[in-house]
Amino acid sequence: MKIIKTIEELKEEISKLKGSTGLVPTMGALHNGHKSLIDKSVKENDNTVVSIFVNPIQFGVNEDLDKYPRTFEADCKLCEKSGVTIVFAPTPEVMYSSSKDNLTLICPPYSAVDKLCGKSRPGHFDGVCSVVAKLFNLTHAKRAYFGQKDAQQLFIIQKMVKDLNFDIEIVPCPIVREEDNLALSSRNKYLTQDERKIALSISQSLFEARKLVEQNIATKRAIVDNSLALMKELDVEYIEFVNYETFEFQNEVDRNTLMLIAARTPISKTRLIDNMKL
Ligand code: AMP
Repeated sequence: MKIIKTIEELKEEISKLKGSTGLVPTMGALHNGHKSLIDKSVKENDNTVVSIFVNPIQFGVNEDLDKYPRTFEADCKLCEKSGVTIVFAPTPEVMYSSSKDNLTLICPPYSAVDKLCGKSRPGHFDGVCSVVAKLFNLTHAKRAYFGQKDAQQLFIIQKMVKDLNFDIEIVPCPIVREEDNLALSSRNKYLTQDERKIALSISQSLFEARKLVEQNIATKRAIVDNSLALMKELDVEYIEFVNYETFEFQNEVDRNTLMLIAARTPISKTRLIDNMKL
């Protein structure tokens, strides 16, 4: 496995690869959720490139860019064990020749970003799309792997690929959870012991909502009320219901509904997201 930190070296190594390449873009602090994407890519492609880059242009001014967990050595070990071909780990200076306001960016439309996470994180998806587009161009990947954990991100990337005719297949990967159903996230590292327990109410809300829909006794109001009661110790940012394919808001819930939650924990103020198809 090669660990590459510059664009020149990446281009050179990519030009030597034979066969298909899978790309797994990450911000590091790798866990089993990331590993599931990596394993799928290794299985489906001749080469796998994992990028590890805490992308500054997708963070807002008051967000956790500086304290975002960084575990580079352990990340490389996980990649090596998993059969990764190249770890690409550039610095922000290597990726960006100037500040965000002087860069050419890819900006998804208002209709896709003026909701859910995009609403509370202005500019976030411009940063995500721009870095992902650069990684597509640099790696010439045939497939790129994204987790359904970040459902709005996955939707926006799929739309970008379609709208801009990127020659790449986007492979969605299911959410990996702990045994008690907490969705794995690098930000779980911020949680205190008590918050770790309180955070379970997020996935609990989703699983209970799905049960209500399966039993045909669910209204949107009843699901929201139940979720708010379960998550009473969290600061809930949104509980929303969209069509899982179009990402348009749904007034009634059915089996095409994707339910999404974002909430902050009370002490460390960690922002957690999770979602489920009902
Ligand atoms: P991140 O490092 O948080 O930017 O995540 C990199 C990729 O891993 C994204 O496509 C995420 O959606 C995906 N991912 C993160 N957590 C999980 C999880 N628990 N299950 C599946 N995929 C995940």
